[in-house]
Amino acid sequence: MPELPEVETIRRDLAPLLVGRSIARVRIHPGAERLAVTDAPRELERALTGRRVDALDRHGKYLLARLDDGRTWVMHLRMTGSLVHTAADTTAARFERARVDLDDGNSLRLNDMRKFATWHLVAEAREAMRRTGPDALSDEFSVAWLRAALARRSAPVKAALLDQKVAAGVGNIYADEACWIAGIDPRTPADELGPRRVARLHAAIRETLEQSLGDRGSSFSDYRDGLGAEGLHHVNVHVFRREGQACGRCGGTVVKTRVAARGTHFCRGCQRR
Ligand SMILES: [Zn+2]
Repeated sequence: MPELPEVETIRRDLAPLLVGRSIARVRIHPGAERLAVTDAPRELERALTGRRVDALDRHGKYLLARLDDGRTWVMHLRMTGSLVHTAADTTAARFERARVDLDDGNSLRLNDMRKFATWHLVAEAREAMRRTGPDALSDEFSVAWLRAALARRSAPVKAALLDQKVAAGVGNIYADEACWIAGIDPRTPADELGPRRVARLHAAIRETLEQSLGDRGSSFSDYRDGLGAEGLHHVNVHVFRREGQACGRCGGTVVKTRVAARGTHFCRGCQRR
């Protein structure tokens, strides 16, 4: 599933190709009607047609295209979605769910095997982000914020990190990686972490997100960047999907367990409760 570094890579790829362009035609394909979460697909197609994209922003795992009518086109890729810029005459991929033709002869394709991706329009982007906390790379996501958020939660720290109200953009990959970098057992109750360990966890979240961004994201499965290429970070992870392998820090064995109903990877040797 694309998390913050993957969505930000897509945003950086697509921004120069989309901003200033107008939308000539939108087609949500039969069978993909659930893509439009608040409107009928034909209504969403009509509302987007003719609009110009003035900016492409991101909050957590959401892409936010600011349109010239003041509205924001909110996109979430969920499990298997990708958004790829191609020439308009490029043959559709097997799991293409929608295409957006631009006024310059190119098009944007939404490919999504599992069909959980969502698109909708909002008058005010803040309204759509109401249930989401600060973006994990923003200044608002401070050590003080994280300390307060964890102090209110007795759930395992892994579960707290997956909560988009705590750290928007962090998902399963980077929660596991951040806990490893910080030397914290992901099963530790969030409210039991002392201030020093919270500060270490905050730095670890920033570190794993920035490193993955430098590698253009992780392609464990379907993730593709805005031009259709894989990211590189999946070969540089410390614990995620490395169960049975040796820990790069202590030589212990990386194990996999379930925390918050999600596969969770950590090293028993050097991650403490
Ligand atoms: Zn270790």
